[in-house]
Amino acid sequence: MSDTPADTTHPQGWTFETTAVQSSIPRGLGQTIGFPIHAAAAFQFDTLEEAQLEFQQNTGLSYARLQNPTVRALEDRITTLEGGAATVAVASGQAATLTAILSVCRAGDHVVSASSLFGGTTGMLGNILPLMGITATLVDNTPDAVRAAMQPNTRLVWAEMISNPAGDIADIRAFASVAHEHGALLAIDNTCGGAGFLCRPLSHGADIVSQSLTKWAGGHGSVLGGAVTVGTGHDLTRNPIYTDGGEQSILRVRGDAALAWRQRWFGAHQLGMTLAPHSAFLIAQGLETLALRLERESATALALAQWLEAHPKVGKVSYPGLSSHPHHHLAQTYLRGGQGAVLTFEVPDPSTFLSRVRVLRIAPNLGDVRTLVVHPWTTTHGRVPEPARHAAGVTPTTIRMSVGVEALRDLQADIEQAL
Ligand SMILES: *Cc1c(COP(=O)(O)O)cnc(C)c1O
Repeated sequence: MSDTPADTTHPQGWTFETTAVQSSIPRGLGQTIGFPIHAAAAFQFDTLEEAQLEFQQNTGLSYARLQNPTVRALEDRITTLEGGAATVAVASGQAATLTAILSVCRAGDHVVSASSLFGGTTGMLGNILPLMGITATLVDNTPDAVRAAMQPNTRLVWAEMISNPAGDIADIRAFASVAHEHGALLAIDNTCGGAGFLCRPLSHGADIVSQSLTKWAGGHGSVLGGAVTVGTGHDLTRNPIYTDGGEQSILRVRGDAALAWRQRWFGAHQLGMTLAPHSAFLIAQGLETLALRLERESATALALAQWLEAHPKVGKVSYPGLSSHPHHHLAQTYLRGGQGAVLTFEVPDPSTFLSRVRVLRIAPNLGDVRTLVVHPWTTTHGRVPEPARHAAGVTPTTIRMSVGVEALRDLQADIEQAL
């Protein structure tokens, strides 16, 4: 019996709930029922030849910037939950976004993205990638708008499964067909899709899933992490990164594993945005209760959204579970188990409202077990130009709420007294 991470189970066919607690538990040393934490920077070899082989293949364990058994067990679990072929876990959601984009783009290439985006992604597309010669066009969250923005050098289409805070839903199948017609890939940020619980974008035609594990996967506001997962069947034959070099091209040498290989190479090996084993442990533990939390949070969010929509002191309420939401039909097509835990609503005086809340906490995170609220206009979207703020569904009176696992009546009572 070995204690290497290769010796793990991949129980295909189980539900998310069962997979989340049963999959990828490493066998061997000590036979812990959960994930052991491998606090190691390097792994030892018995012979020169063994070390040489590992340095040629990079498939096992040598140095922990590349691979660590705890991190790999988490990666395997996420791969199974997302229904993918391979995952690289990295230090944050932001690191995952960068890894995903650099895996298919280089200087001279172009990204088309739906503009309803997490602020950090907008910043990366607008400020960081241009430094590397990669440009982006941000468009309305519709297949027609994406199609109109496609260029001969477009390598990637990007959208969020459920956008934050507006709750737009990516029309994955339509986006995938536009991307594939142009020889590009589709990447979905599945952070608000809860690591595959509400939706598995790869099963609808997406090629890459990128996500922040800081939010619902971790679930307790205690750890940062991110992951990039690839599916099977993506076509890289029209991307010169993969075909340059003829017989020696990445595609020829790496075959079906080329995309996953490049993601690990960039995200972990070269850029060093490696996830720490202790963080991987916390996230793996969080995943075990994700289904319970997100199901409860989604049910509470829907009940709160309906209640707030009828409340005389509250203005517009935005939640994809409401029939008034423009993407309600897409939510019904793509989401199962709930429509997510994030909603926005308008209050007459955000400053007074936030000064009065007692159960709700003012904090910028999402997916915490506690209900968190922010005033996006002055915080998360404070640096976004005003027209883009409005386009993202943020006005001076908008409150964003990430619903936790508290009882509905306690949340209602707190909101009522604060209003
Ligand atoms: C938070 C978030 C990110 C970035 O994740 P970090 O872990 O904070 O780096 C990316 N995308 C979405 C949708 C997010 O909500």
